Formats: sequence, structure tokens, C-alpha cells
Amino acid sequence: MGYVMNEKGFSEIVRDLSQTFRIYAPVKKTGAGRFTDTDVVMYDWVTEASDIVLDRKSDYSFKEFLTPLSEILFFFTESSAKEAELDERPVLIFLRSCDLHALRRLDEIYLRNGREEDWFYRRRRDKIKLALIGCQHSFENCFCVSMGSNIAKEGYAFSIDRRGDEWYSDVRDSSLKDTFAGHALREEDVEPLHVTENATKVTVPEKIPASIIKDKLWDEYTVRCIGCGRCNFVCPTCTCFSMQDVYYTDNGRVGERRRVAASCMVDGYTNVAGGGQYRRTQGERMRFKVLHKIQDFGKRFGYTMCVGCGRCDDVCPEYISYSNIINKVNEASLEESEGAGKECGE
Ligand code: SF4
Ligand code: SF4
Repeated sequence: MGYVMNEKGFSEIVRDLSQTFRIYAPVKKTGAGRFTDTDVVMYDWVTEASDIVLDRKSDYSFKEFLTPLSEILFFFTESSAKEAELDERPVLIFLRSCDLHALRRLDEIYLRNGREEDWFYRRRRDKIKLALIGCQHSFENCFCVSMGSNIAKEGYAFSIDRRGDEWYSDVRDSSLKDTFAGHALREEDVEPLHVTENATKVTVPEKIPASIIKDKLWDEYTVRCIGCGRCNFVCPTCTCFSMQDVYYTDNGRVGERRRVAASCMVDGYTNVAGGGQYRRTQGERMRFKVLHKIQDFGKRFGYTMCVGCGRCDDVCPEYISYSNIINKVNEASLEESEGAGKECGE
């Protein structure tokens, strides 16, 4: 069922929903951008519709509710452990189609990547409903069409698009219909907006030859990439973390265990006992990140990890373009297979 609202109607709906849900949505943080006098759009808790940014791509993703940068998992003493408490109220997350597709990737990693589900992820995952923000146009660096994440056909409770002075919602969750009906101007079939073309296009290679590991294309990133890890922290599909134990006492037996976000691009990520390090250069780290997202994840789950949100390109202080790298890997893979074909006399 679809509904059309004016600004007041949508505001009332958000106010009503905030009585039941904690609402997590993109908001503008004025002056908090990485350069002087610039803003940043990131996720935070809201109770008013006017605080929700619908007309810009968020610089950071929704994933921080499900995988916080730093999360206390449990407290321990010498003889016992107790899980950290979590707010029991349900959570409504506003997100775009690419991020809804990213959620499927997070679920694969935390719920279906081994014999056991991740209990701490599961308890957060079970709390959420999704509000799909429609995309009227493509944003800078987006390549969602190439990655097939430009359209979401299911998985959301309702959608929201602003079209002129009216707000359009496709309401899929029957428990929310009365809330919308009570504040709508009219009922109408609504199809959430989505883009069908991006300026940035990529071709993910179908087959990447093993020789790509030694290809000189990675050397450039040893020089250009400064290993800041920003590309990982904004990425809705990056899931790596490490553990920290914080002790309250000198005997080291009472304290808390935290799960803390980690970055495969930052020095130290591959350190192992004995002083070893699997990937020492930024070129090697870039190779790992890219091939994980466009090849290795797919070998396990059958589809590509990257959803083409373009946030990594937006945030990189060295103007390194991840979409360009995918296309370079594709070209190098084609050249390699053509060369192999000639050697075989094809
Ligand atoms: S790798 Fe870049 S474009 Fe792909 S999902 Fe992550 S942030 Fe978005
Ligand atoms: S954001 Fe750019 S410079 Fe920083 S680690 Fe990622 S690719 Fe390297």
C-alpha cells in the first residue's frame, strides 16, 4: 500500500514512529567535515523528520549500529562473565538501496560464515526494521548500477521519497499502515525511486588470473596510499575487527572485552607472533582489499561484496579511486587471458 504525505504529515509519522522505535538516520553534522567549514553526513539518533538528510549521500554508513566502532561485549571477573546490556527497544534505520544490499553482505559474514552465528551481531540484527530512502539521482562516485545494488525490491518496512512538496511511501509492513494512513493526504500506489545510470561505471572481471597477484598495477598504491584506513571505516561492507581486553585491576582478571573496528589498510593489521607481517606494503594491502571484495567473497557466497556506494572514493585523502582499480584489474585480466590464448595458438 502506498501513501502520499505533505511535510507536516511526514513529520507527524516520524514523531509517532519515534514513540515505538529508536530512529537511526543520516544527519548533517555542521562543521564536522574533514576540511575547515565543511559538513559531514553521518548516522545518529533522531526524533524529528527535519533532522533526517534525504537529499545527500551519507559519508558514513548505517553499519555503526550493527557493528559499532567500539563495542563492549562482556564484563569479566575472576570467576564469571556477563554480557553487556543492550537497549531493548526496536530500531528503525533509514538507508539507501546500496546500503540495504550491504546489509545482506554483513549478514553473510556475521551469521552465515561458519558453524555459529555471531551472537552479539544477531541480537542487534533482530532489533531492526528498515526505511528505504529512494534515490532521485546518482551521487558523485556511485557505481551501484554496475554492482546491481541500485534497486531494492524487498527487505524494507517502508520507503520514503521526497518529490517536490510531497513525500511518497511504499509501506510494506502492515503494522505501520495505520500510522501512515492517519497522516497521509491520499493513498496511491508508490514505487520507490531508484537510479538506472551512474556516471561511474565498472566492469567486475569474471575470471581473475592468479598472476594478477604479482601485477605491477599494485605498485602505484605503495607510493600513493598513506594507510589511513578511512576507506574501510566508511565502507558499509567492511567487517574486520579486533579484540581488546581492558583491565580494571592490576591482577588482570577483572575488566571488559571490547570488539573494535579494524582496517586491512592500516599498518599492523597482519602482524603475527614472532615479528612476521603478511602484507608489508600499501600495494599488497590494496590488492588484498580489492580482491577480497570482487573475488574472494564471491567464491564463498556467490556474489560480489562491494555494492558500489562510492564512499571509499569520496573519502580517500589521496584521491585513490577504487572504481578505477576494479577497471584496471578487469583490463589486466583480459590482457592476461588474451596473451594466454595466443600462447595456446587460439
Ligand atoms: S568498497 Fe567502496 S564502493 Fe564498495 S561498498 Fe565499500 S565503500 Fe562502497
Ligand atoms: S582512504 Fe585512501 S589513502 Fe587511506 S587507506 Fe584507503 S586508499 Fe589508502
